[in-house]
Amino acid sequence: MNRTNRSNTSTTPPLTKDRVRTAWVARSAVLVTVWFTAVLSAQLPAPAGTTDPEDVTVHEAGHQFWYGIVATNEFENAWMDEGINTFATARVMQERYAPTYTLTRYFGGFVPYLMRDFPRSREREGDRLGTYRTGAKGDAQSTPSWQYWPGTAGSITYDKTALWLHTLERMVGWEVLQRILSTYFMRFQFKHPKPQDFFDVANEVSGRDLTWFFDQVYRSSNVFDYGVDALRSDIDVIDGAIPAGVKTELRQASYRTQVIVRRYGEGIFPVDVRVVFENKEEVRWHWDGRDRWKRFEVEKPVRASFAQVDPEHVLLLDVRYTNNSLSMEPQSARAARKWSLAWLIWLQDHLLTYGFFV
Ligand SMILES: [Zn+2]
Repeated sequence: MNRTNRSNTSTTPPLTKDRVRTAWVARSAVLVTVWFTAVLSAQLPAPAGTTDPEDVTVHEAGHQFWYGIVATNEFENAWMDEGINTFATARVMQERYAPTYTLTRYFGGFVPYLMRDFPRSREREGDRLGTYRTGAKGDAQSTPSWQYWPGTAGSITYDKTALWLHTLERMVGWEVLQRILSTYFMRFQFKHPKPQDFFDVANEVSGRDLTWFFDQVYRSSNVFDYGVDALRSDIDVIDGAIPAGVKTELRQASYRTQVIVRRYGEGIFPVDVRVVFENKEEVRWHWDGRDRWKRFEVEKPVRASFAQVDPEHVLLLDVRYTNNSLSMEPQSARAARKWSLAWLIWLQDHLLTYGFFV
């Protein structure tokens, strides 16, 4: 390349207004892109109210305990690492960061949007109830992890374990479960424990024989589903107590309330049944949950308002929670109105946001 040639190449057109404007727009676009990438990617992926990078950090740190130190067999018993760790992660997130909300991402995942009307819960999102349901019957957890039906390993390994450990927490209380976990950790660190080692510690520390529970959640693929099938509260005048000629309104009214609860799933779990009356009084029964259904009856001078099975939601493995209660007055119209309005406003918000960018 010589000077002559070089001077020949300098035949660039003169700087017109149009060229200046084009260059300015192009440079601005690059700057805006760099700014969005650098600043927004550093800040927006974790807006306050979500735990976008925190929970994966807590989870990976947890592996140092359950996989690294206890050292279980990931190929055969992945639940002993990933499952216990999913439970532990959800518990830490609840203790440290609640309340948190659902986060969605738009424009290729670049713009996060926090939905404050959809709070996250430990038992639902933390324990991953939704994804457990999709593969709940796929395999017994005792199947070696590498032999799981394709696509169910996540449900059975991570989600089911978190749900049954959280159920166990509600059965025996956190203090007892904490002692179970710490005893198991201290006793078996660097010893490559097997599933039965964990179950033996749980039985020993809780002072209860929990074999029936582990047989179901670990050794079977049965799902749990309890529901209230019927609730009736019929007026029931006591015969013989009042002469036949007396006006109905002068008789002492009495209501016979009947609740029928059913076990829709194969899993068996003892549950409480609760009925609440119009004067807020309540009656409770305990059901061993063994038969396919059971009828409970009570006589009261007041009508029932609603009934629930497992009112404290101890059994977090229940795959259909919507059938767990029934009210005397149908709530479907109210629920439909509430949800359709919420959904429409949500949709409107999103369309407005989208309209702003295009
Ligand atoms: Zn993990």
